[in-house]
Amino acid sequence: MQRYLVIHYNEIGLKGKNRPFFEKKLEYNINRLLFKDLDKIQRRYGLIYCKLKDSFVLDNYLFFLENFPGISKSYLSVVANYDVEDIKEKALFLINEKLLHSNFISFKINSKRSFKSFKYTSLDLNIIIGKYIEEKTNLCADLKNPQIILKIEVGEKEIFISLDEIKGIGGLPIGTTGKVISSLSGGIDSPVASFEVLKRGCEVIFVHIYNNTLVKGEIINKIKKIVFQLNNFQQKSKLYIVPFSEIQKNIISFIPCDYRMIIYRRYMLKLMEHIALKENAKAIVTGDSLGQVASQTLDNLGNIFSSINMPIISPLITFNKDEIVKISKKIKTFEISIIPYPDCCSFMISNHPQTKARLEDILKFEDIIKSKEALLISNAISSSEVFVF
Ligand code: ATP
Ligand code: MG
Repeated sequence: MQRYLVIHYNEIGLKGKNRPFFEKKLEYNINRLLFKDLDKIQRRYGLIYCKLKDSFVLDNYLFFLENFPGISKSYLSVVANYDVEDIKEKALFLINEKLLHSNFISFKINSKRSFKSFKYTSLDLNIIIGKYIEEKTNLCADLKNPQIILKIEVGEKEIFISLDEIKGIGGLPIGTTGKVISSLSGGIDSPVASFEVLKRGCEVIFVHIYNNTLVKGEIINKIKKIVFQLNNFQQKSKLYIVPFSEIQKNIISFIPCDYRMIIYRRYMLKLMEHIALKENAKAIVTGDSLGQVASQTLDNLGNIFSSINMPIISPLITFNKDEIVKISKKIKTFEISIIPYPDCCSFMISNHPQTKARLEDILKFEDIIKSKEALLISNAISSSEVFVF
């Protein structure tokens, strides 16, 4: 039987006059996601529905439907005519198919009629179709705790009949809220931070900064794997790999070790800001979480973030580590992030970095290398490698 994917969104519905812009973007993104297995895609009031090719296998798309920005829930459905006999037939077909793989004994019909000219109300449909299912199967109706919920949505142009709801993450379609630069380390947090801004509709460009005296190939491979995984959501990504050793050498030569980590991070942000201006991106995203490590005291974050003028978004700032880990497992970056890697931020720093550094002192130290700063930054940017996924 012909299958359809019925995709719902929630927040887009609140966008007033801009709603078509958000809906079209979501339609475009879903089209790109499914194109191999998609016959036709159409927008209806409050949903997008996709006529699927026979080649469509739900298991191949579950991860996406559960994590794709903009999708709040979806159903694998069949379509019925505006005819109660046809609705009965399609409902029974779906339920029998479900019973082939399970021993369920209870069910409930959940109808919703948005097309008010259809002569049966939601309650009529619940009763008529419910009775029919009870007659034709061994299932009993159970309105409180059903094992199977059959959904009948009477829309303006078609009637969708579906079983299992696939819960999505909601949010906004990628490409609706602007472009950002995500500062991607090899750790657990920054891929999750990137995902959080993807979820809010941002297009993300990734930047990793590395020390080329450390094991370069392994780190770059790891970062590429992370970007490859995150690219599942935006389907086209750019990654900058920026060398840091020249800047780091200067910092190590002139700046006391307990200040180096803060100054590394200030220079990293300066590099990011440079790339952002070049790429016309409007903000920098970091994976900082308040108090997690020494660089993340309120004082230090203030000192680090004040190195540039561009807005800095740190979506994980209030997240606990276990909350971050949970998301990284869900989006499948965790397994890549835990591969050990040398962190260039911890290269030649004190075991006890400053947690209450004073900005005057930081600026005084930076003054020593200020005259070389522009050259160091432009050299680092021009020797970056850029990968497109
Ligand atoms: P993560 O798990 O993301 O590495 P973290 O908790 O280990 O974060 P830090 O290592 O202090 O904390 O890094 C804080 C943030 O700084 C990272 O989340 C990331 O956004 C940015 N960052 C750190 N190192 C790099 C790097 N080498 N290249 C790009 N960004 C980096
Ligand atoms: Mg880290």
